[in-house]
Amino acid sequence: MTDTAAPAVLHVLDGPEPPGAYGELEPSSPPLIDDEGRVRLSFSRVDTYGNCPTKFRYAYVDRLPGQPGPHLSFGTSVHAALETFYDRKLPDCPSEEDLLGYLYDAWDSSGFVELSREEQLAFYRHAQDALRRFHRRAAPTYRLPADTEAWFELPIGELATVVGSIDRVDVDDDGELHVIDYKTNRKVKNRERVAGSLQLAIYALACEHLYGRLPATVCLDFVVAGVEVRVGIDELDLDAARAAVTETAEGVLAARYDPTPNRLCDWCDFRALCPAWGGAPDAELLGPAVTELTRLRRQVARDVRALRELEAGVASASESLRERGLDPVDPPDGRAREAASGTS
Ligand code: SF4
Repeated sequence: MTDTAAPAVLHVLDGPEPPGAYGELEPSSPPLIDDEGRVRLSFSRVDTYGNCPTKFRYAYVDRLPGQPGPHLSFGTSVHAALETFYDRKLPDCPSEEDLLGYLYDAWDSSGFVELSREEQLAFYRHAQDALRRFHRRAAPTYRLPADTEAWFELPIGELATVVGSIDRVDVDDDGELHVIDYKTNRKVKNRERVAGSLQLAIYALACEHLYGRLPATVCLDFVVAGVEVRVGIDELDLDAARAAVTETAEGVLAARYDPTPNRLCDWCDFRALCPAWGGAPDAELLGPAVTELTRLRRQVARDVRALRELEAGVASASESLRERGLDPVDPPDGRAREAASGTS
């Protein structure tokens, strides 16, 4: 092995002094309120706050873990397959077989762990059927989109930044842009509800922010039902979307988190904790989260121990190669060198 090949392999172990207990392995998540006092929101955060501020608090202020659930994993997998379908940078349409292969590669099984093998398989077959239907619709008019999974950070007024990604942005022969968002639930919304979609209004504003102009149309593509519902930009209420975002930011900055029982409470991950449903007092409230935290800390500690042992092993093997006059890989950091020389 040469020195030029080594850094790519060992880069993960190398680098500046760690910022925290687990060094570079520690991901950083942006704070809810940034240094400029702007609240970092997304469509789902604004939607959650609008449905129930207490749920928003549990999910985004306290950051209690939610349950992945089969429908979330199903949606993630189908979205990922469609992203690959449109992201090949080749003008010819991938075959149906290709598309099903993208699904296979992207399948996220994390939400299915509590299901039987047969139930999991039923979800997988269901996703395959939906993508077959999608292929039949998309193949005849396939063309490369302007963008897929287009990430945006959109400032709204003085108080908020809305972040997110648009599933797909198409461009037509006249240069007009068209925003497409995939939906993987069974229920199809009518035109009126699509026109009233806060998500699509936010995406339209994001499109203007990213590409300098509003899209001509926005659409929800109901992949499971095989139906696309498209509306013109004039049908959206962009001011109402800006107002909803600003109201959410104001509520967060004022720490207004009152519970609002609603029809979605039965599916809420935090119902057992919720004061509106006689949830546990504060002392017991964090029980499940603390259990998960303890488990994760143990797991990270085990992984870091294994990492350090591997570092020491690489350092030791490198030292031995040097002694034999060969060209070794440099040990990744000081600790590994110390371990190899027995000074730690
Ligand atoms: S159970 Fe209902 S009221 Fe309570 S946090 Fe969840 S959505 Fe809000």
